[in-house]
Amino acid sequence: MSKTFAINAGSSSLKFQLYNMPEEEVIAKGLVERIGLNDGVFNIEYNDGEEFETTTNIPDHAKAVELLFDYLQEFNIIDDLNEIDGVGHRVVAGGEIFKESAVVTDEVIKQVDELGEFAPLHNPAEAVVMREFQKRVPNATMVAVFDTSFHTTMPEENYLYSLPYEYYEHFAARKYGAHGTSHNYVSRRAAEIVGKPIEDLKIITCHLGNGASITAVDGGKSVDTSMGFTPLAGVTMGTRTGDIDASLIPYLMEKLDIKDVKDMITIFNKKSGLLGISGVSSDMRDVEEAADEGNKRAQLALDIFVNRVQKYIGQYIAVMNGVDIIVFTAGIGENSARERRAILEGISWFGIELDEERNDTRKEAIITTDESKIMAINIPTNEEVEIAREVERLK
Ligand code: ADP
Repeated sequence: MSKTFAINAGSSSLKFQLYNMPEEEVIAKGLVERIGLNDGVFNIEYNDGEEFETTTNIPDHAKAVELLFDYLQEFNIIDDLNEIDGVGHRVVAGGEIFKESAVVTDEVIKQVDELGEFAPLHNPAEAVVMREFQKRVPNATMVAVFDTSFHTTMPEENYLYSLPYEYYEHFAARKYGAHGTSHNYVSRRAAEIVGKPIEDLKIITCHLGNGASITAVDGGKSVDTSMGFTPLAGVTMGTRTGDIDASLIPYLMEKLDIKDVKDMITIFNKKSGLLGISGVSSDMRDVEEAADEGNKRAQLALDIFVNRVQKYIGQYIAVMNGVDIIVFTAGIGENSARERRAILEGISWFGIELDEERNDTRKEAIITTDESKIMAINIPTNEEVEIAREVERLK
C-alpha cells in the first residue's frame, strides 16, 4: 500500500493529511496547534470518524512531528513506516529559485531555509519539518510544493514594483504572490467544469479565506496576483491590511510611539483587516453576525472587504482584457453565499448575472444564470490533494 503525507507547517502549527495513493483516499488528518507554547494541542482524525485530541507541551516543530509518528503507530494507523513512500511539504516562499515543485534534497532544504528572508515565520519551520521527516521516513520521496511557483509565470510589468530597478537586481525586491497551489487547482478545475481547454480561458480566482488573494489566470498561467513581496498586500483579510500607502508607516510609528518598524508590520499583519475595522473579530462569520445585530463597524468591515475584492476583479479584467470565469474558493469564498452575492451584484455591469438559487451552496457549482456573459463558479479548494498529486507526479 502506498501512503503519502501532505504537510502544511505554519509558524506555530502543523496540518497533515495522510492519503492512500493513487486512490486519494484520506486515512488520517489532523492539526498540531500552539507549537512553542506549554499548552500545545495535537488533534488527529482517523478510521472514518475516530478522533483524538490532547493538550501537551509542544516546544517546537520537531516535537510536533515526533507526536505525529508516535500516535500514528499507537492508533495502528500505520503498521510499518515503510508504507509511507511519499511526503509533500507546502512551502510559503520559493523566491525566484523554485518555478515548480522540487524533490527534496539537503540542498533544497538549505535553500528553503535561506528563503526565510522572504517568509521568516514559515520557511525556517518548514525546513525543520522536512529534516524531521527525512529522519523518520528516509526512503520516502519528499517533495516541496511552493506557494509561489504558480505565480512565476507573471510578466515583469506585473511583478515589478515602481522602485529603482537595482533593488530588484540586487535584493530580489518584487511581487511573489501566494496561495499558488489553490489558484492552480481551482483554475484547472474550472476549465474541467466548463469543458474547455484552459489555454482558451481567462479566469479570475478569488481565494477568500482568513488570508485572501486574487489571481488573474490567462490561458492557465498566473499573470498577476494581489499578494505581493509578502502575503500582506492585496485585499482586506482577516487580520491583514491588504494594500496601504507606505507613507503611513513613519506617520503611524510617530503617532503610536513605535520604535521598531517590525512592531508596525505586526500590527498590519495581525491587528488590521476585518478585525481592525470591526473591532469584533477576524472571523467572517462573527463579523457577519455582528453586522446583522446592527454593529456599524462590523458592517463597514464587510463593505470594505467586498469593495477591495471588487476592485481587484475590475483590475484583472483590465489586465487580461476580459474574463470568462470568476472562481470563488477558501473559507469565505466557498461558504458565504452572502459575500459572493455582495461582490458579484456590485459589478453586474460587466455582464455577471447571479442566480440566487444556484448561489445558495457550499459545493462545487456554477452560480450564475445560463445567460450570464461571465460565469462565476464556486469551487472548494483542496491544496492537500494537490500536494499529494505533486508527490505522485515526481515519484
Ligand atoms: P485559512 O486562511 O486560515 O486557511 P479558511 O480558508 O479556513 O482560512 O477561511 C477562514 C474564513 O472563512 C473565516 O473568516 C471564516 O469565518 C470563513 N467562513 C467559514 N465558513 C463560513 C460561512 N459559512 N460563512 C461565512 N464565512 C465563513
